[in-house]
Amino acid sequence: MMTAAEGTCAVCGEALEELNSAQCGECDQRFHLNQRNDVGGKDCGDVWIDEQYLSLRFACFNCLRPDERSPTGGEAEPPVGEGH
Ligand SMILES: [Zn+2]
Ligand SMILES: [Zn+2]
Repeated sequence: MMTAAEGTCAVCGEALEELNSAQCGECDQRFHLNQRNDVGGKDCGDVWIDEQYLSLRFACFNCLRPDERSPTGGEAEPPVGEGH
């Protein structure tokens, strides 16, 4: 049974499931994000903690790579570092 675009990764276009995906805070599309360390998974984006709002932020690689798609205005934030 075919359902709407929901269930398709915005980055690689492959099917995804609720458990291995997240919603991008920039483009509102879903992308692969492995949220479990005990299971191998695919990452088509990144997640980090916003230090200003102390909340989780999600972004797909489409939005993290400005060379693929020009950002929709606003100042570009530097990519998130790996802590340490
Ligand atoms: Zn993907
Ligand atoms: Zn995005």
